[in-house]
Amino acid sequence: MKDFGFTVQLDHSIDYDAKDKRMMRYVLYHEPSLDWCIGCGSCTATCSAGQFTLFNIRMAHTLLRRGETEKLKQELKKCMFCGKCQLTCPRGVNLRNVLLRINRAIELFG
Ligand code: SF4
Ligand code: SF4
Repeated sequence: MKDFGFTVQLDHSIDYDAKDKRMMRYVLYHEPSLDWCIGCGSCTATCSAGQFTLFNIRMAHTLLRRGETEKLKQELKKCMFCGKCQLTCPRGVNLRNVLLRINRAIELFG
C-alpha cells in the first residue's frame, strides 16, 4: 500500500457497516422522497427550532443515515413539526412526513 505519510485515526473513524440501518430503511420505505435530498441546507437555514436551539435537521438526517439512535432521539425533541423546512426544500422532500416517520422509527427500533 502507498505510504501517504499519515494514517486514519481509528477513534475518529465511523464504521458505517456496523451501524444499525433499520430506521433509515423504515423511513425511506414510508417516505422515499428523502432520497432526493442533495444536502443543500435550505431546511436547516429556515428551521424554526434552529432559531432558538442548536437543532440542525440536516444533522438529524446524517444521524439517521448513520443509525446513531441516541443522538437522534435527543435532536428530534427540539423539532416543533411546523413544516417550514418543507416549504423551502428545492427538491420537494416531504420533510414533515420524514420527521414523523423518524419519530415512529425511534419508537419501533430505538
Ligand atoms: S432543503 Fe431539501 S434538499 Fe436541501 S438539505 Fe434540506 S431536505 Fe435536503
Ligand atoms: S418542522 Fe422541525 S425541522 Fe422543520 S422547520 Fe419546523 S422545527 Fe425545523
